[in-house]
Amino acid sequence: MLWFTFRQNNSGGFYIGPKYVIVEAKSSVSANALAEENDVYFNGCSKGIDCNCCGDRWSRAWQNDGEEKPMIYGEAIDPENPFYQDSYGAVVPSEEIKIVRMSEE
Ligand SMILES: [Zn+2]
Repeated sequence: MLWFTFRQNNSGGFYIGPKYVIVEAKSSVSANALAEENDVYFNGCSKGIDCNCCGDRWSRAWQNDGEEKPMIYGEAIDPENPFYQDSYGAVVPSEEIKIVRMSEE
């Protein structure tokens, strides 16, 4: 299983919902589909939702983006208690990180 991180671009100067959506999936194709069920949309500019100068709010994952662990900027994140702090001390709290796990079958 792989983990794909979707990072929100603040298109128009604001965020909507979680800044990160991190999806567990077998492939980027299923990760993109799962992300779209969880607050993520693609092609926001061409749909007229996002600001054209800022670019799309969300971008599709590619197969090469898949990681063995959930990651933000190359750091592994605990999916049970997601949290990220960069080297300058800036924190992404768990409320801004949405984890989407494969359903157990
Ligand atoms: Zn803009």
